[in-house]
Amino acid sequence: MVTRVERSYEYVGPGDLLRLVRPEAVGEVVESIADFTAWVARTPSVELDEPFTYVVDLSGYIRLAARRSEHVACAAGQRVMAAGEIAFDKRSSEGWTVSRVSNQSTGYCPDLSSWDAVASALDRIGLSHPPAFTEQVVFRRCPACAELNVVKDGFFACAFCDSDLPPSWNVATIAPQT
Ligand SMILES: [Zn+2]
Repeated sequence: MVTRVERSYEYVGPGDLLRLVRPEAVGEVVESIADFTAWVARTPSVELDEPFTYVVDLSGYIRLAARRSEHVACAAGQRVMAAGEIAFDKRSSEGWTVSRVSNQSTGYCPDLSSWDAVASALDRIGLSHPPAFTEQVVFRRCPACAELNVVKDGFFACAFCDSDLPPSWNVATIAPQT
């Protein structure tokens, strides 16, 4: 088994959201299809298209939390390998599949390359999924004013000061762990 060194992400969102980090708010770790089935049984209206909050923790497992909950709470304040939103669909013949999954997390602002960690976590539990993020968010930190930006329509300019944004992911305020 090849162990890959992948980037992890620290929380970069507003400090006041850290108060939401509580044991009862931590995302439920899903290590197997049995775990997923048990989570579905306990969770109302999983089949609705409205997505759930997820992170991939540093062990490479996906953690699921309530819709619209904060990623930092789902992750217990820890670094993550991926974060975003995920929705599930139950097709009668195939069982549950991932219908939509994104890297939409303004708390962690993960790069699109975090897909590898998402795919690995889903493959590990045997849940079929799309070949890539179905919604892709491009996060950059402005080198001039340090504000976090979401790049829209390929327009790499800071929404706050109009400076150019770099072509590569740069959100981390400290060097990525390698
Ligand atoms: Zn700026």
